[in-house]
Amino acid sequence: MIKFDHVSKVYPKNIIALENISLEIIQGEFICLVGRSGAGKSTLLRMITREDSPTDGNIYIEDIDISRIPAKNLSYLRRKIGVVFQDIKLIPSRTAFENVAYAMEASGNSIDEIEKDVPLILDLVGLSEKRDAFPNELSGGEKQRVAIARALAHKPLLFLADEPTANLDNQSSEVIMEIFKDLHREGQTIIMVTHEEQYARLAEKIIKIDDGKIVSTTKNRSR
Ligand code: ADP
Repeated sequence: MIKFDHVSKVYPKNIIALENISLEIIQGEFICLVGRSGAGKSTLLRMITREDSPTDGNIYIEDIDISRIPAKNLSYLRRKIGVVFQDIKLIPSRTAFENVAYAMEASGNSIDEIEKDVPLILDLVGLSEKRDAFPNELSGGEKQRVAIARALAHKPLLFLADEPTANLDNQSSEVIMEIFKDLHREGQTIIMVTHEEQYARLAEKIIKIDDGKIVSTTKNRSR
């Protein structure tokens, strides 16, 4: 479903963020990217959403070379991808329900679809009872769950998560990881960056990056 074909990214001043990365991710796979800070993990994610482009090599999503997508059609690519980051940016003046609804509206869903789907998605992340709460009335973990609901609202082909538990306590992190497990069970393709080993172990495949290169790919046989 996603293929990196000899992808490199060199920033000015010859900073090599990614070097000759080739990898393939199949539909429904749960992949974890691990590696120390500065290894190139976030750069790799930014290549998938085309927030940034490789200096060499190609990236294919469903056999489409994404470098060939014209800028005006990038929203089409991004609609296929749901993203959550460690810094959770919800709209402060909107409730949990409205934050998710807004994302669906932006991707062209009808009012009927929004009314039907938002409660289902909030239920999936265990926040049905907080649907009318504003972000400042939610804990860090609950905010992250709204962010996950928002990222999933348009039923993305691919779910990207960059250190989704970085700013959360253990208990909230566990809840988030249970959601990821459920999503994976339902067939969602997931790429997660994490430095927390116990969460990386939930993935089917752990890809370790160092100095912009893949140094190991471990299949998790215990799953
Ligand atoms: P990680 O996510 O693994 O911490 P990054 O992908 O953020 O690593 O960074 C990889 C390397 O690329 C680092 O050396 C970083 O300083 C560099 N880098 C990342 N983004 C930029 C940028 N926009 N301009 C220049 N260098 C960058």
